[in-house]
Amino acid sequence: MERVVIVGGGTFGASLAWWLAGRGDEVVLVDQFEPGDVRATSGGETRLIRCSHGADADYTAMARRARTLWKELERESGAELLLDSGVCWFAHRDDGWEAESERTLRALDIPTERWSVDEAARRFPSFRGDDLAWVLHEPEAGVLRAQAAVQALAKQAQARGARSVRGRAHPEGAAVRLDDGTLLEGDRVVWSCGGWLAGLFPEHVKLRVTQQELFFFDGGDGWRDVPAWVDYDRATYGTGDLDALGVKVAWDQEGPALDPDADLPPATAATEQLTRGYVADRFPALAQAPLKGSKCCRYEISADSHFIVAPHPEHASNWIVGGGSGHGFKHGPAMAERIHAAWHDVTPLPAHFALGERSKGASFRSAGSNF
Ligand SMILES: Cc1cc2nc3c(=O)[nH]c(=O)nc-3n(C[C@H](O)[C@H](O)[C@H](O)COP(=O)(O)OP(=O)(O)OC[C@H]3O[C@@H](n4cnc5c(N)ncnc54)[C@H](O)[C@@H]3O)c2cc1C
Repeated sequence: MERVVIVGGGTFGASLAWWLAGRGDEVVLVDQFEPGDVRATSGGETRLIRCSHGADADYTAMARRARTLWKELERESGAELLLDSGVCWFAHRDDGWEAESERTLRALDIPTERWSVDEAARRFPSFRGDDLAWVLHEPEAGVLRAQAAVQALAKQAQARGARSVRGRAHPEGAAVRLDDGTLLEGDRVVWSCGGWLAGLFPEHVKLRVTQQELFFFDGGDGWRDVPAWVDYDRATYGTGDLDALGVKVAWDQEGPALDPDADLPPATAATEQLTRGYVADRFPALAQAPLKGSKCCRYEISADSHFIVAPHPEHASNWIVGGGSGHGFKHGPAMAERIHAAWHDVTPLPAHFALGERSKGASFRSAGSNF
């Protein structure tokens, strides 16, 4: 049994609290906000859960394992967190990201279907695919209710014996100092602080915190039961109308920098115009659909978009966990399991999760891709 203090209760920290408490560790989960707060990257209504990751078998397998663990959390909490809507990947070429993903999924026995553009068109009330070569469908992928999932993780961590503390923390040697002066110590301390990590550990963590915008269109009832989708080559993704929020469409270019403590600004007319342009092209019936909602949220992006999961160079009992880079949500519970295994010398973590300089690569979407 270990005493573990976790600062940061987003998907990574709350998953770890849930996982470790379930294994009998004495866990304290500290956060400045309530679980699922919209100022955290894990806040907000929905996140895609998909296994496709191009040729990267490690992320693919981790996402698949995470799906099993999210379902375990659903059973334990009684909350409906994962919607198996399926995810469609719009392939512009015969041998691009989608074909690589298909090969990796098949090698790992993860269900996958190859749809013609006409077959895909039948799944949406309105669809134009004359620029597409084919569509990769992951039938067991879907959408996580993000805020509800983080709340369930935190609640079930408590039910498993974890203690929850509200407060802002900073490192003090190998310990945790809260703003009210309380000192927390553990056999291990985990800093899973999302966009705040770079400010807490400026010598060791480099992250770009950016503003990302989401739009929700009122398309009517026909859009309730459609697959989520990703147009990887056009950096756009979305979902059907879930929980009456509207059809979600996100223009996924890297947005401007946004301080983690700054208020989230409203979405911009310029990005709405870009998003509407895409929608008019791909889902023509939505071209004039009224906007039901829009919002900004934050990404925290590592240089190569790989996650950061590593011991602190001067305090080996302290771990730094984050760098979700727009694709971290779904992995939370599986990452928790891997961190636990790494701590107990069962399976080491990949070298690309380490601290230190990272190559920027071809683009920020190259290594992990978002969503
Ligand atoms: C618009 C958008 C769409 C996305 N889409 C997807 C998707 O489809 N699929 C997917 O898998 N991922 C997606 N992501 C990425 C995913 O949401 C993030 O990678 C993930 O949520 C990051 O989680 P985290 O636990 O690292 O950080 P956070 O959720 O930000 O959690 C960090 C926590 O630490 C707390 N904290 C920070 N500093 C302190 C401190 N000093 N003291 C106390 N508490 C502190 C914060 O309050 C916060 O609660 C998306 C992200 C965004 C913004």
